Amino acid sequence: MNHTDCWVQWDKRHSWHPFTQMKAWCSPDHEPLVLVEGQGAILKDSRGRKYIDGNSSIWTNIHGHAHPRIIEAMRKQLDAVAHVSFLGSTNAPAAELSSRLAALFPEEKLPRVFFSDDGSTAIEVALKMATQFWQLQGQPQRCGLIAFHGAYHGDTFGASSLGGIPLFTERFHRFHFPVEHIGSLEELAALPSFLRSEIAAVIIEPLIQGPAGIRLWPPGMLAALRKLCDSNGTLLILDEVLTGFGRTGTLFACEQEKVVPDFLALAKGLTGGFLPLAATLTTDRIFDAFLGEFEEQKTLYYGHSYTGNALACAAALASLDIFREEHVLEKLQPRIAVLRKLLDALRAIPHVSDIRQCGFMAGIEVRPSSQTPYPWQAQTGSRICAAARAYGLLTRPIKDTLILIPPLCTTEEQLTMAVDALRKAIIEICGNKYV
Ligand SMILES: *Cc1c(COP(=O)(O)O)cnc(C)c1O
Repeated sequence: MNHTDCWVQWDKRHSWHPFTQMKAWCSPDHEPLVLVEGQGAILKDSRGRKYIDGNSSIWTNIHGHAHPRIIEAMRKQLDAVAHVSFLGSTNAPAAELSSRLAALFPEEKLPRVFFSDDGSTAIEVALKMATQFWQLQGQPQRCGLIAFHGAYHGDTFGASSLGGIPLFTERFHRFHFPVEHIGSLEELAALPSFLRSEIAAVIIEPLIQGPAGIRLWPPGMLAALRKLCDSNGTLLILDEVLTGFGRTGTLFACEQEKVVPDFLALAKGLTGGFLPLAATLTTDRIFDAFLGEFEEQKTLYYGHSYTGNALACAAALASLDIFREEHVLEKLQPRIAVLRKLLDALRAIPHVSDIRQCGFMAGIEVRPSSQTPYPWQAQTGSRICAAARAYGLLTRPIKDTLILIPPLCTTEEQLTMAVDALRKAIIEICGNKYV
């Protein structure tokens, strides 16, 4: 048996994959992709086939795979120490990373950094800080939480309580804590004032809702939300787990509307996509409320075993160095324009009903001519992405929206190839004319 067969056999026998119907996965005619190597925006499988990493390895990778600077920083840290406890001690890369992250905001408006492991835990941290903050302020009635329809903030119970995608949350509904879901700012403003005064925090994915299918908020919405929160005394949590680290064209999405939140959740791209690491940034106002004598019991009792992991923090520091020294955001701007042009050309093919782009992220929605969606059971989006694989592009759909979120290092030529693969795959699966 060759290696691939061996890995596939182990996997099918013992692994359980996320968001995956394992019956189809384990069936004899499904050949799982075994990815063995990466270089820049390219991934290689165990049979030697190469692909463009069209969704940045589920939205994590930023500067490409095997980036030499991140590897070097991690090697150096590995030789020193991989992990030590952040409970009772600190370590050099974590301490430096908190100061570097804080410095990314003008006048150190978000000077405190709490590390955790992934997007979901970064959100959990913000939720616990927000609710404890109001208790410490003597306002325990301020415990309401507002999230948006279509929102996605992670899969742990706290984070999924905030979720607004019924497919992911419905089954667990009776175990979720109460969250008011709204569709627009108008709905928030229309809440009776006694309700608004009991809101602890509002949470939103700024500029775009990713997992809802790359849905763009109207321009100005984020700034208006900040104003509304301020007028109600409500805390604002921004989930930049996806939008952070250049995806929208700026380092953080919130910069585009000059908004500073009370909590900023970062994860996916924080280490450049090399290791799991998350950070929840917050203000002095929040932090100071937790200060007191031991007996006052104001301490935040929260943490994980790998909080402040030194190896992951070293990777994150290297990723920030790359942004600065390799002028990543400057070089990205012309390629955002190239992506826009390539996508515009896609609009002409039948069955492409909508294309939504935000910076270096895009969603291409397919529908039959009638404009009503394909039946969901047909898994049209999945079949198109499977077809695109044969043309050298790896990505996944959200329902019938094909997602293109490549690493920021993706070249013009690779972008052209990626969009071309999608074009061929759409025509292959949907046909090249309307029926
Ligand atoms: C991925 C994601 C999360 C959850 O992050 P995990 O690392 O998967 O726990 C939360 N919010 C948004 C917007 C995301 O895209």
